[in-house]
Amino acid sequence: MRLQHFCEKSSLWFFASFSITPFRGTSPLSEAVEKGILSASYLLFCHMSMETTTRRSLLKTCCRTGIAAGLLGFVGVLGAKKKIDPSTPVWQINPEKCTNCGACAHQCNKTVSAVKCFHDFAMCGYCDLCTGFFDPQPFTRDEGAENQQCPVDAFLRTEVEPPYFEYKIDHDLCVGCGICTDGCSKLGNGSLFLQISLKECLQCNQCQIALHCPTKAIEQIPAGQAYKLRAE
Ligand code: SF4
Ligand code: SF4
Ligand code: SF4
Repeated sequence: MRLQHFCEKSSLWFFASFSITPFRGTSPLSEAVEKGILSASYLLFCHMSMETTTRRSLLKTCCRTGIAAGLLGFVGVLGAKKKIDPSTPVWQINPEKCTNCGACAHQCNKTVSAVKCFHDFAMCGYCDLCTGFFDPQPFTRDEGAENQQCPVDAFLRTEVEPPYFEYKIDHDLCVGCGICTDGCSKLGNGSLFLQISLKECLQCNQCQIALHCPTKAIEQIPAGQAYKLRAE
C-alpha cells in the first residue's frame, strides 16, 4: 500500500511538473526522467502494475492530475497575459487591410511564421460547407485530406449538430499561409483572418513582414488593443 501511495503521489507531481513550464525541472522525479535515470513509461508502468490499484483509483488519480494541471495552466496563462503592459506597442495585422497575399508565411524572422489564422467565433456561420476548410472542388464533404485546403492539417472540423460545424485552428501547426483566410474572405463572411500571435512574435524592432506587406496591413498598436478583430 505504501508503494501504491508513493506511485499515485509521484505520478501526480510528475505530470503537473511536466505540464506547466514554470514547474519544469523542479521535481526530483522530472529531473531524474530528464537525466535518463527514470523513464515516464516506467512511472506509468509502476503505477498501473500495482495489484492493489483498482481502476477507480487510477481514474481518480487521472482526474486529480487533469484538474491540477488545468488549474495551474489557467493560472499560468493569466500570469503570461499580465506580463505584457497594455501600453507596450506590439506588431499586429489590420484585418481590414490584409489581402491574404501569402507573404506572411515567408517573410517573418521566425522559421515558422508568428502569423497564425485566428477565428472570430462571434461572426462564424458554423457552415457545413466552409470555404476556408474545403477545397473549392471537394470530392466529398468530409474531413478527408483530399478535401481540405490547409497544407499542414492545422484546420480542425467538428460537428456540433446537423448541419452546423465548429472550426478551430491548431496554432502549433499553422504556418500563416493565408489559404483558408482567403477562402473565407472571398466566399464566406471573413470570420477567419490572419493575425500575429503575441505568444509567438519576437516583437522585432522592425517587423520584416511589415516591410514586405503590399498593403501596409501590419501596424504597431498598444498591446491592450490586440487582437484586432474584423468587427472592431
Ligand atoms: S503580407 Fe500583408 S497582405 Fe500579405 S498576408 Fe501578410 S498582412 Fe496580409
Ligand atoms: S490554411 Fe494556412 S493559414 Fe489556414 S490554418 Fe492552414 S496553415 Fe494556417
Ligand atoms: S515582429 Fe518579427 S517575429 Fe513578429 S511577426 Fe514580425 S518578423 Fe515575425
